[in-house]
Amino acid sequence: MKLELTRVVQGGYRVGVLREVGRAAHTSMEVPGCLLYTRCGAVPHLTHDTLRTVSPLPPVTQLTLSTVAEHREVLEEYKDGFKKFAGLHDTALYCSLHDPVTPYPAGHITNKTVSVWGSGGRIELTVARFMALQKALRPDLYQSMADGETWQGDATSRKRIRKSVDRTLAHLDECLLIHHQTPELQGAEVLGVVEGGDSLEERVRSAKETAKRPVGGFCLDGFQTGCMERSLRTRLIAAVARELPEDKPRLLQGVGRPDEVVACVEAGVTERGCALTFDLDLSPDTERAGSAPPAVLELGEEKEETWESEQSGDVLLEDQAQTMTPFEMDLKDTKYRDDLTPLVDGCGCYCCTNHQRAYLHHLLVTNELLAGVLLMIHNTAQYNSFFRALREALANDKLEFFKKRVLSRKRVGHKEAKE
Ligand SMILES: [Zn+2]
Repeated sequence: MKLELTRVVQGGYRVGVLREVGRAAHTSMEVPGCLLYTRCGAVPHLTHDTLRTVSPLPPVTQLTLSTVAEHREVLEEYKDGFKKFAGLHDTALYCSLHDPVTPYPAGHITNKTVSVWGSGGRIELTVARFMALQKALRPDLYQSMADGETWQGDATSRKRIRKSVDRTLAHLDECLLIHHQTPELQGAEVLGVVEGGDSLEERVRSAKETAKRPVGGFCLDGFQTGCMERSLRTRLIAAVARELPEDKPRLLQGVGRPDEVVACVEAGVTERGCALTFDLDLSPDTERAGSAPPAVLELGEEKEETWESEQSGDVLLEDQAQTMTPFEMDLKDTKYRDDLTPLVDGCGCYCCTNHQRAYLHHLLVTNELLAGVLLMIHNTAQYNSFFRALREALANDKLEFFKKRVLSRKRVGHKEAKE
């Protein structure tokens, strides 16, 4: 796996391509970019055939260990790895420990084990069990075992944070040792996990120590939406980024809001320049299936005069915890009942070119399964165009312009929400 930085723009922000991802080394991924979110190898609501109609798709698919941990024996028996098992062709597979959009219960971590939750309950993993699972799954990239519990509460003590960094480093050393002795994992890359909660000192220590190990990249854990105040997160990511080698990718999980994504890219690339990748953080729960980010952000059509000249460098996160963000719309709202416009004007996805908001409203209030399908198609397409526009902005030195556009979208969203 090689990270080629293709362009350096203002203040050291960089854009690049991650080449030779995976064992077959056929996959390339433009960064910053996002991964394709799945549950047990399937994008929620979409069949493989439907998914193939959405293009382009992110070249790397994310899989959560908890969704497959209880099927280890089946996969061991199968012998050809999870990609073939699930029919995931033409994609590289990344395996994360926890689901990036679902919180997990705290208090089940010991010095030697972490826990994941499958459909049958808690599964306790030692490094040996964790690595046996990786051996059966044969991913192209995987996150090493980590104690990432420090984001679970505000009152996490310094001692607990220090312990999480120490344990995570110890797990990484053990994982790497087994990794190198496992022929089934040759060609796969281990991503070292940077922990440290909200402590700058521990974040820097974790980054420095992880960078000393022979890892393929880094997973910045514990920065999920809502886990800490935004300006603190930006500072911590910037500090961590300074300690990591430039030529390796960094993965941030559980950050999905457009304005937050931009802030994280900016923080991560300050001074040193790097690449950040993001998981596709859509809300796959049917409860929130009515949400769809309404923003289409194409830099192709620049209409500067429509923007407010307000210089708001940072977005307040007072609404970070609210369930519906200004980037989403509640299609169950009766105001959409007679709305015959597409979900997002100008979006070229199947949903927007064939259906109107009123139809989606109807599908949602009558609990039709098609609602989830159409919205997932739109959200996937929308997220891709967002990242494409972000890369274009970085490559063409237009990040400030792009940011204003994202922030103005946020203000419009607020206005719409209040109406
Ligand atoms: Zn659409």
